[in-house]
Amino acid sequence: MTPIETQTLHPDSDGITQAVAIWRAGGLVVFPTETVYGLGADASNGAAVARIFAAKGRPAFNPLILHVADLESARRYAEFNPMALDLAQAFWPGPLTLVLPLKPNSGISSLVGAGLPTVALRVPATPLAAQMLAAFGGAIAAPSANLSGQISPTTAAHVKGGLSGRIDAIMDAGATTVGLESTILDPATTPPTLLRPGGLPAEIIQQMIGAPLASPGQTMAPNSPGQLASHYAPTAHLRLNVTAPQAGALWLGGLRRSRRQSLAHRRHDRSRRKPVFPPAQP
Ligand code: AMP
Ligand code: MG
Repeated sequence: MTPIETQTLHPDSDGITQAVAIWRAGGLVVFPTETVYGLGADASNGAAVARIFAAKGRPAFNPLILHVADLESARRYAEFNPMALDLAQAFWPGPLTLVLPLKPNSGISSLVGAGLPTVALRVPATPLAAQMLAAFGGAIAAPSANLSGQISPTTAAHVKGGLSGRIDAIMDAGATTVGLESTILDPATTPPTLLRPGGLPAEIIQQMIGAPLASPGQTMAPNSPGQLASHYAPTAHLRLNVTAPQAGALWLGGLRRSRRQSLAHRRHDRSRRKPVFPPAQP
């Protein structure tokens, strides 16, 4: 892929105008939502959506989430059953994605849904994302703004580390607040199915609907992230059986415990029925 110039946009009215102009011209603008930074393109423009997959190195069978300004806009693209409507009214704007039947003649590129008859939709909660989407006026397809298989970015610096030279612009508005991807639900089943846990805790949804959420059944094709052989692949070194932490490394097991920790641990594990885990990392 030939590198392109990546400009940084500021979270003000000029920045929003520039972002919208780039989207209208079929370009890629990364923008922050409350969950993580998203890699956005005009969802009705097939060439622009294809650029998302190319920039991320994302397999074409992994569908994208549509981001819209509000519920009214979302209803232009998807069919809402009564449960979907209740969920949207309770939790939008917010970190909840609903998988819904795509309306015929929605104008959404077929690349977005990877050939599925459904579409994943969400209304982000940050005022900046809401202003950008309202100014654009349509649906923006936006997966997390990382190279495929890597960790979702929560700052513009993370985004630049992975995607600089592959995207037209980054709207830099500091760290995202939730820092976790959206919770994905399929409201077509009764009760709705939790396709991916995320920023909106399942307990809160269950409280609202008054029933436990269903789990996804065994299907041949992945219908939510985390079902491929590799999903999150941190690039830090993994150290086993270490006795001291080291900056930039992941480590498991082997921590030498203080006598007090050992006693507390043994008390906790008196039943010996459950496997013993090391104490939390510092
Ligand atoms: P990302 O933003 O990179 O976490 O990707 C969004 C996730 O939403 C994808 O990994 C998809 O698995 C999921 N998704 C998008 N569209 C659909 C759909 N129509 N049905 C089920 N899951 C979907
Ligand atoms: Mg992702």
